[in-house]
Amino acid sequence: DSSPSGDEQFTQPVYHESDADRRHVDDKTVAVLGYGSQGHAHAQNLADSDVDVVVGLRETSDSRRAAEADGLRVATPVEAASEADVVSVLVPDTVQPDVFDAIEPELDAGDTLQFAHGFNVHYGQIEPPERVDVTMIAPKSPGHLVRRNYEAGEGTPALLAVYQNATGEARQEALAYADAIGCARAGVVETTFREETETDLFGEQAVLCGGVAELTKAGYETLVDAGYSPEMAYFECLNELKLIVDLMYEGGIGAMWDSVSDTAEYGGLTRGDAVVDESVRENMEEVLEEVQNGAFATEWVAENQAGRPSYKQRRKAEQEHDIEDVGERLRSLFAWADETASEAEREPE
Ligand code: NAD
Ligand code: MG
Ligand code: MG
Ligand code: MG
Ligand code: MG
Repeated sequence: DSSPSGDEQFTQPVYHESDADRRHVDDKTVAVLGYGSQGHAHAQNLADSDVDVVVGLRETSDSRRAAEADGLRVATPVEAASEADVVSVLVPDTVQPDVFDAIEPELDAGDTLQFAHGFNVHYGQIEPPERVDVTMIAPKSPGHLVRRNYEAGEGTPALLAVYQNATGEARQEALAYADAIGCARAGVVETTFREETETDLFGEQAVLCGGVAELTKAGYETLVDAGYSPEMAYFECLNELKLIVDLMYEGGIGAMWDSVSDTAEYGGLTRGDAVVDESVRENMEEVLEEVQNGAFATEWVAENQAGRPSYKQRRKAEQEHDIEDVGERLRSLFAWADETASEAEREPE
């Protein structure tokens, strides 16, 4: 592979626009399967970068009208894959194996199967034929930002991974694709399907989605059980979370400590590790082990095949928690925040 060299201040190769050679996608047809969060952004950015794009959607899909209104050519996933050199699989992860089964016969030798998340390939739910390149370009943000940044002349950082390099040009082509959707303007970090998948699952389970939701509910319940009002508990344990996270996002943990009062800083520094103690790290190691040994993936695939019984039950219990009720009433006091909140996406990636 004629590998680009990359930026040397990081442990992983990080590529920029100057490393990308657009000729690797210029004369190709890209099929973007799915027109959701990532799909609409990749398809429109590629088209605006003069790459030939065809969007693959089912005949019955509501997204067809949206893609056509955005000036894109639409076909079925099988038709799109058949004419494409690069097939970007941007349908939901749980439906990707079925879509793959349908399009596999359309993949010619030297074509590329591209993903934005490694779950199905890493856990063997999709077994790509040896004749194709298998790559990943995973923007580190929801699709609406990938599109908005591109239009503003800015970039969204992305991950790049090569799982299978049949042509010897997989990395260069993936980087050219990342450049065409605007990501090389910010930086493209090389990883592997394994690392991307396992860190993504661990992060959302232990820290981002699972960890933060449980920490929030535990703090809320501790205050309410001790006789404090639900409104106060909601403000202290949930509402203020956004201010803290924004500071950490902008300037790291240090920017957060610098911005809060000295009292908050001293209290946090001396009490935080008493709450999230050694036992939490041991629990995290167990969660990571189930990600690494495939137990979580096997469970989730079986859960989907069974019609999601446990998922539905836990989702219902979560919706019925008191914090949701008091939160809904309090948030009506912040009606002006609705517009920004509605832009937030379901899943941090
Ligand atoms: P999404 O749920 O927003 O959109 C899915 C699209 O696929 C919709 O247009 C839907 O109509 C279409 N679709 C559903 N079933 C289909 C089928 N059977 N055949 C054809 N089309 C079908 O999906 P998303 O969040 O953009 O996720 C796509 C991929 O990107 C996933 O692998 C995900 O892990 C990855 N990813 C998502 C984000 C994010 O922020 N949402 C970030 C990085 C990576
Ligand atoms: Mg083809
Ligand atoms: Mg190819
Ligand atoms: Mg995820
Ligand atoms: Mg306070």
